[in-house]
Amino acid sequence: IDVNIQHDMEKLQSSFSGLRHRYRLIKRIGEGTFSTVYKAEDLQYDHFDNSWDIEKENEKWTPPPLKSFTSQSTTTLGLAAEDPSQHLQRRRKPKYVAIKKIYVTSSPTRILNELELLHDLRGCSSVCPLITSFRQTDQVVAILPYFRHADFREYFRKMTVRDTSIYLRSLFSALASVHSRNILHRDIKPTNFLYDPLTQRGVLVDFGLAEREGLDCKPCLCHEDALMRKTRLRNAVMGSTAPAGGYPKQDTRPSRRANRAGTRGFRAPEVLFKCTEQTTKLDIWSAGVILLTILSRRFPFFNSADDVEAMIEIATIFGQKRMKAAGQLHGCSFETTIPTIGTFGFSFERIVLWSTCRSDTGETLSKDEKLAIDFLNKCMELDPSRRISAQEALSHDFLRMGLE
Ligand code: ADP
Ligand code: MG
Repeated sequence: IDVNIQHDMEKLQSSFSGLRHRYRLIKRIGEGTFSTVYKAEDLQYDHFDNSWDIEKENEKWTPPPLKSFTSQSTTTLGLAAEDPSQHLQRRRKPKYVAIKKIYVTSSPTRILNELELLHDLRGCSSVCPLITSFRQTDQVVAILPYFRHADFREYFRKMTVRDTSIYLRSLFSALASVHSRNILHRDIKPTNFLYDPLTQRGVLVDFGLAEREGLDCKPCLCHEDALMRKTRLRNAVMGSTAPAGGYPKQDTRPSRRANRAGTRGFRAPEVLFKCTEQTTKLDIWSAGVILLTILSRRFPFFNSADDVEAMIEIATIFGQKRMKAAGQLHGCSFETTIPTIGTFGFSFERIVLWSTCRSDTGETLSKDEKLAIDFLNKCMELDPSRRISAQEALSHDFLRMGLE
C-alpha cells in the first residue's frame, strides 16, 4: 500500500478512540469529492445478533459428526467441542464494512442531511444501509456494510443488451423505492451505484447531495397547468424577446437561483435551465445518461467543463427546436449561433450506430437494441413532466427483458 494511504489510515484509527478496537482498516476503496472510503473488517461482529447474515451462515452450516449426539454430550452441548455455535464460530467469515470518512470541510448541515436521509431509507432494498456513525470533534465517519462491486469502466463495454436490462432494472428498483419516499438522489452516476456483475445486484450509495422533493422550492413555470402554458408560450413566440446580436451585454433580467448540485455530464436539462422546482425526474435523466453510455460504449459520454458546454452537448443531440421548447417550459429562451447545433438534432439510434462504428456498414440495430432506445427516449425526455417515472419504467418491456 501507498505510504500516504497507510499514514491516513493510521491517523484515522488513532484520532478515533475506540475505532481501532472495533475495526481493522484494510485498504482505501474510494476517494470522492466529499469523502474517503476504506474497506475494514468488523472485529466485534457477532453474527448471532445479525438477522440478515445468519440465514446465509445457516445454509453453509453442516451438522457436526454424529458422535456429538451421544447421550453424554447432549447435556453439555453448550460447552462441547462440537457445539453447533462453536462450529459456526470457527468457520465464521469475516464481516466487512465500508468506513466513509466525510471531509471535515463538508458543512455540518450537509453531513446531517446525508445521515438523516440514509436513516429514512433504512429497509429500502437496493439502498446501502447505514450501520452506524461516529463523530470526533469535526470528523464524522459513517459505517456501511461493505458491498462487493466492480469498476464500471471494466465491464460496461462487454455488456449485452440483456445484461444492460438487468443492470438498469436493479438501478430503477432502487430509484423507485427512493422516489416513493419523495427523495431525490441528485447524483446518479456509475460510481454511486455499486454493481456486482457476477451476482447482477447493485446498491445505491452516496446520499450526500440528496434532498426531499418540494422542500424550499420556488414555483417554476414548468409546473403550471396546460392552459396557462399554452397562452404563455403563444405570447412568447409572438413577441420574442431574444436579443438580436447574441448574448445581451447589459443583462437587466433578475438572475435565477436553483440547486445545481450533481455531476457534470449527468445533469438534467431542467437543472441546466435552473428550474426552481426540481423533482425526482432529474434522477431518471441521469440514469438515462448511464444507459446511453453503455449503448454507445463511450465513457464519459458527455464531457463538459461547465453548464454552458453541457447545454451545447445536449443541444447537439436534441437540436434547436426541441431545446427552445424545453427552455420555454422554465421561462428561458434558448438562442445559439453554433453551427454544429442543427434545427432537429439526431436520433439516439443514429448516435448509437455512429459511436459503435456501424453507420458506414449499413448495419441496423437489433430488435433488443431498439427496445433499449425506446426506453432511452423515455428517460432522456427534455420535459421532466413527460419523462418516465421509476415506477413506470419497471413495467417497460426493456426492463422486463431480463425477467424472462
Ligand atoms: P463520495 O461522497 O465521496 O462520492 P461515496 O459514498 O460515493 O462517497 O463513496 C465513494 C466510493 O467508495 C464509491 O464510489 C465506492 O467505490 C466506495 N464505496 C462507498 N460505499 C461503499 C460500500 N458500502 N461498499 C463498498 N464500496 C463502497
Ligand atoms: Mg460518490
